[in-house]
Amino acid sequence: MTDRSALRADCASCAGLCCVVPAFSVSSDFAIDKPSGVPCPNLATDDFGCTIHSELPERGFPGCTVYDCFGAGQRVVQQHFGGRSWRTTPGIREEQFATFEVVERLHELLWYLEDAAGRRLPRDLRDELEGLRSAVERAASDASERDVVPLQLRADALFGEVSGAVRRGGRSWRGRDLAGRDLREEPLADADLRGALLLGADLRDVDLGRADLLGADPRGADLRGADLSRALFMTRLQLRAGRSDETTLLPDWAAR
Ligand code: SF4
Repeated sequence: MTDRSALRADCASCAGLCCVVPAFSVSSDFAIDKPSGVPCPNLATDDFGCTIHSELPERGFPGCTVYDCFGAGQRVVQQHFGGRSWRTTPGIREEQFATFEVVERLHELLWYLEDAAGRRLPRDLRDELEGLRSAVERAASDASERDVVPLQLRADALFGEVSGAVRRGGRSWRGRDLAGRDLREEPLADADLRGALLLGADLRDVDLGRADLLGADPRGADLRGADLSRALFMTRLQLRAGRSDETTLLPDWAAR
């Protein structure tokens, strides 16, 4: 399976793509409106660093502190464009931006596939996972095929099967609005929390077991003392968005 280190952002090998390609809307995460494909005004002009990197939350850009491209940026710049950037080679601008949008989505799928691959699963499910992983990896390497929807649909169904096999019947809170709730006494171990809103929720000392966190939003959730070490489909973005400390039990990948 994919080495997860390849799914970690290496900004020094990128070209600030995450500061240019996405559109921003004024919100609690971003202080400005910015159309897609336009460099953020805080992007340095002599390199691809952020000129307010050390004060992002104070300047109204906390969303930038949790963002994760899953390593798509360096792959696009180095592998697909041989180290060239939209700034030094303006002719590749549109192509590079479009490729980033595709590869970012594919790398996110690879992240979940890698998680699934590390679980104890029936043989037929493992075979399906491996087949999908190969297809996603091929698409990320080529990226001339821009339609990632078929792969995402295939992945959605498969991740649902993986969740059922891994969680062994935990309670479903799928898509529930749990924002601001005190969840310390709730049975969340092995729960289905897919897509749940956990903004500001109190999860102190909660054992989440193998809870499915795919798409859950834990921004500002209190994760102190919580056991996240085996949580399914958790991402760095989710981990950074919650409030954890040295008492939070983290997944192995969080230490790397
Ligand atoms: S504020 Fe900094 S990190 Fe955020 S998009 Fe702008 S340049 Fe990038």
